[in-house]
Amino acid sequence: MASETEAALAATPSDGPTVFDKIINKEIPSTVVYEDDKVLAFRDIDPQAPTHILIIPKVRDGLTGLSKAEERHCEILGRLLCTAKLVAKQEGLDDGFRIVINDGRDGGQSVYHIHVHLIGGRQMGWPPF
Ligand code: ADP
Repeated sequence: MASETEAALAATPSDGPTVFDKIINKEIPSTVVYEDDKVLAFRDIDPQAPTHILIIPKVRDGLTGLSKAEERHCEILGRLLCTAKLVAKQEGLDDGFRIVINDGRDGGQSVYHIHVHLIGGRQMGWPPF
């Protein structure tokens, strides 16, 4: 079983602090590629492609995953996608890229702080599994 799947099965969905809070607070290192007042984008520690970046809201506000989204989250959700587009351009992914949001156990989510995966730099397959 892939380690990401094992991590997802082992993860406990909760609204408590995650490793991403430590990244936001610069308590642990990360390679930040974009940052503004609302979002942070940094390189995934276990890249699945030549470019693999995570885009997260700096304030979680209960948005542990997409399935927990409420009306008040619509603006930040749009911001995450717009940031993905901006970072894709910045990374030179001119031939395309993939956006992934894993949700819950079946979706393979292991960190319960919503995040958009921006993956690119190689040909993607389908179905994704
Ligand atoms: P999965 O672990 O199955 O990919 P998620 O969609 O929840 O599930 O993704 C969490 C991502 O966070 C993983 O791709 C993982 O490699 C990444 N990650 C975990 N810890 C760190 C870290 N300290 N720095 C950067 N990325 C991290």
